[in-house]
Amino acid sequence: MRVLKFGGTSLANPERFSQAAQIIEKAHLADQAGAVLSAPAKITNYLVALSEKASLRQPIDTDFKAALDIFYNIIDGLYAENNNFDLQGTKSFIDGEFNQIKELLVDIHQLGYVSDEVKATIDSRGEKLSIAMMKAWFEARGYEVTLINPVEKLLAHGHYLESSVDIEESTKRIGSLAIPKKNVVLMAGFTAGNDKGELVLLGRNGSDYSAACLAACLGANVCEIWTDVDGVYTCDPRLVPDARLLPNLSYREAMELSYFGAKVIHPRTIGPLVQTNIPCLIKNTGNPDALGTVINSLQSSNLQVKGITNLDNLAMFNVSGPGMQGMVGMAARIFEALSKAGISVILITQSSSEYSISFCVPIKVAEKAKAVLEAEFSEELQSQALEPIDVIRDLSIVSVVGDGMAQAKGIAARFFSALSKANINIVAIAQGSSERSISAVVSQNQAIEAVKATHQALFNNKKIVDIFLVGVGGVGNALIEQIQTQKRYLENKDIEIRVCALANSHKMLLNENGLSLDNWQSDLENATQPSDFDVLLSFIKLHHVVNPVFVDCTSSERVSGLYARALSEGFHVVTPNKKANTREIAYYNLLRENARQNQRKFLYDTNVGAGLPVIENLQNLLAAGDELVRFNGILSGSLSFIFGKLEEGLNLSEATKFAREKGFTEPDPRDDLSGQDIARKLLILAREIGLPLELSDIDVEGVLPKGFSEGKSVEEFMSMLPTLDSEFSERVNKAKSEGKVLRYVGQIEEGKCKVAVVAVDSDDPLFKVKNGENALAFYTRYYQPIPLLLRGYGAGNEVTAAGIFADILRTLNN
Ligand code: ADP
Ligand code: ASP
Ligand code: MG
Repeated sequence: MRVLKFGGTSLANPERFSQAAQIIEKAHLADQAGAVLSAPAKITNYLVALSEKASLRQPIDTDFKAALDIFYNIIDGLYAENNNFDLQGTKSFIDGEFNQIKELLVDIHQLGYVSDEVKATIDSRGEKLSIAMMKAWFEARGYEVTLINPVEKLLAHGHYLESSVDIEESTKRIGSLAIPKKNVVLMAGFTAGNDKGELVLLGRNGSDYSAACLAACLGANVCEIWTDVDGVYTCDPRLVPDARLLPNLSYREAMELSYFGAKVIHPRTIGPLVQTNIPCLIKNTGNPDALGTVINSLQSSNLQVKGITNLDNLAMFNVSGPGMQGMVGMAARIFEALSKAGISVILITQSSSEYSISFCVPIKVAEKAKAVLEAEFSEELQSQALEPIDVIRDLSIVSVVGDGMAQAKGIAARFFSALSKANINIVAIAQGSSERSISAVVSQNQAIEAVKATHQALFNNKKIVDIFLVGVGGVGNALIEQIQTQKRYLENKDIEIRVCALANSHKMLLNENGLSLDNWQSDLENATQPSDFDVLLSFIKLHHVVNPVFVDCTSSERVSGLYARALSEGFHVVTPNKKANTREIAYYNLLRENARQNQRKFLYDTNVGAGLPVIENLQNLLAAGDELVRFNGILSGSLSFIFGKLEEGLNLSEATKFAREKGFTEPDPRDDLSGQDIARKLLILAREIGLPLELSDIDVEGVLPKGFSEGKSVEEFMSMLPTLDSEFSERVNKAKSEGKVLRYVGQIEEGKCKVAVVAVDSDDPLFKVKNGENALAFYTRYYQPIPLLLRGYGAGNEVTAAGIFADILRTLNN
C-alpha cells in the first residue's frame, strides 16, 4: 500500500486534478493506493472567511459564489475529459454541501458568533468535496473505491480546530474495515473525530498529517506528499531562487525544518511515520518524474546544514527582575501556566545570569499569554521582584537546521555574521539542545532578508551585487558596458553583478532579478514607468534585496540629496557626483552617520582624480596614523591640458579653443576656468583629512578676471577671450625666464584651501604634468620631502566608470 497526499495547488483546476488522479491510478496499478486529499487551492481560505464574515454580519455572497465556482469548474472539466464522469450526481452532492454551509452561515449571521465546533464543520467541507470528485473520477473508470470517513476512523484529542490523532486506536478502527485489495482507498484530509464522534480539524495545512496518520494506520510502504515543488529545498524556493533541492533528509531534520516554518510539510507529519519507520517522499504533481526528497531514519548526505527557515507572526516575552535569581521553579511556573492555558511556546532562551527568561509565542495568543503570566505572578509583580512583563511583537524566528551541525564548527559564526553584514538586528538567539538547529529572533520585516543573506553565506560562495543605476549619460553608459564585458570574468570569481534598476530623469526600468542589458537603451526609451525615486528607494525592502548599491552617475544636486535616505533604506551608495560631498557639512556628516548606523558603504573614490585611487589611498594613510602636512595637485584634466599648451607656446584663447574642440572642456569652458570644479575636489580632500570647511571657505583664483564676460553667451565669451592673451603670455614668459611653468593648482596647507595659478620649478612634481593628466602630491609625515604622488588621467568616461566599478566591488568587502 502506498499513501499519496495531494495539496490544494495539485487540485486547483480540472487539469491539475486529473493529473493528480492519474498519479494515484498509476500507483494503484503498481501497488494499492490510498489517497488523502486537501481542498482545492483557496477553498479553505474562502470557507474560513465565510464564517468569520457571517459572524461580523458582513456580506458573504461573493466569497460563497467564488468557492462554489471553483468546484463547478473542476467537475465540468472532468466531465469534458471523460463523459462517464457522474456530473449530475457530483454536482448535486456539491450543492447539498453548499446548502448546508449556507444554512450554518445564516445561523451564524443571526447569532453574530461562530463556535469552533461549527467552524470546524464548515472549514472541512473542501476536503470532503475533493474526495467526492475523486471518487467519481475513479468510478467513471470502473474502479471500486473505499471511502474512509476520517470523523469515524481517525480518533483525535484536542480542540475542535487543532487536534492530534491517536494512532493506536485509529489503527484498530481502520483495521476493522478489511479493505479489498483491488479498491482505491480515499480519505479527506484535515479532518478527524473526537471521542464524542464530533468532527474536529487537525490545524491549517493539516492534510499532510492526515496522510501520515493514514500511512501509519494502514502500515503503508511509503507516505508520498505531492505538492507544487520538486521536493524539500534548502530554503523556500519562492524566496530564494537558487535554493538547492535536497535528495534526502532525516526525520529529525524534516521535523525541525517544518517546525521552524518550512511550509512544504506540516510539522506533525513526521511523528506518526517515525513510530512506524515509514519513509516519506515529497514529490511534484506538475513534474512527477523528478526524484523528489526522501525523508527517513538515515543520517543523510554530506551537507552539514540542510535548510534555513523563517517562522513569522511571533511575539517575544521577557520575564525578568531582581527576584528571579535563585527563585526555584520560575521556569516551571511560567511554562506550566502557559501550557494550562493551551498556549504553546515556540522557543525559549535564558540568560546565564538567571535574571531573565525569554520565549516566543504566536502573536495571536500574545494578549492571552500576557494575562496568564500577570495572573500567575501578580504577587511578584506587585512587590517588584519581577519587572513588568515585556512583550516585543512582530518578530520572526530564522533557523538554520541540519544533523551535521553538531560536529561542524563555525556555522553559528557564519550565520550571525551574515545577519550582521545584512544589518539585521538579532533580538535573541537559541540553540536546540540537540544542536540540530540554531535560531535567531529578528524583526519580522527583516526575516526574508535574513533568510536570503544566511542562505547566501552558508550555501553559496557566490557574492551578489544588485546595482540601482541613476544617470545613463557618458559615464553611466561606459559603466553598463564594463559590467557587460566583465560579467564572465567576475562569474569565475564567484561574483554576480546584476543591474536591478536603470533610471534617467524621465523613466526607469526595475527588475529585482536583474534587467537584461542586451537592449537597455531601447528598453529604457520604451519604458512606461516614470522615474520615481520613492519607488526606486522602497524597491529593495519590497523585494528583500540583500546587497543593493545605489550608483549615481548624474551630476544632479537633487539626486545627491537622496543618498542619506538611500543609506537608511539599506543601499550602499557609490557616486562620482561631487555634489553630496560638497554640500553643507551637516549633510556630509549625516551621510557618514547613516552609512555607519546601517553598516553600508558610501564610496566616492571617483570624486577626485576619476579612476585614480585617491580617496582610498588617503584613507589608508590616515588609518595608518599618517598626517597630511601639505597637498598640491592638478585636479582638472581640462586645465592640465590648457596650461600644457600655454607652455608649448599657444596663447590662452588658442589653447582654450583647442581644448574645447577636442571635447576636453565642459560645453562652456568658463565652468573649467572658474576653478569651481577644482574647489569642490579640494574641499572633498580637505574634509577627508578632517577639516570642517564649506565650499565658500575655499579661496579660488579663477583663470579669468572676476566678472569677465558675465551674462555673455559661450560664443561671445570665446570671441572676448583673446583680450586676455597678452597678459597671460607675459606671465607664461616670466615664469619661463625663471625656469618655471604655470600650473593651475589646488593647495591645502595649514588648514586652508586655495586654488591658484602657480609658477612651479623643475623640482616640483607638478612641473611635467600636462596633456590632461592629473597629479596629486601628498606631503605627509611619512612622505617627505618627496611626496606621495598619484598621477594619471583623471577624467574620461572609461576611467571614471572603471573607478566606479572598483567602488561597486568594494561594497562586497565588509
Ligand atoms: P500544498 O498545497 O501542496 O500543501 P503548500 O503550499 O502547503 O503546498 O507547501 C508547498 C510550498 O512550501 C512550496 O510552494 C514552497 O513555496 C513552500 N516551501 C517553504 N519552504 C520550503 C522548502 N524548504 N522547500 C520546499 N518548499 C518550501
Ligand atoms: N485545506 C486545509 C488548509 O488549507 C488543509 C490542507 O490543505 O492541508 O489549511
Ligand atoms: Mg501544505
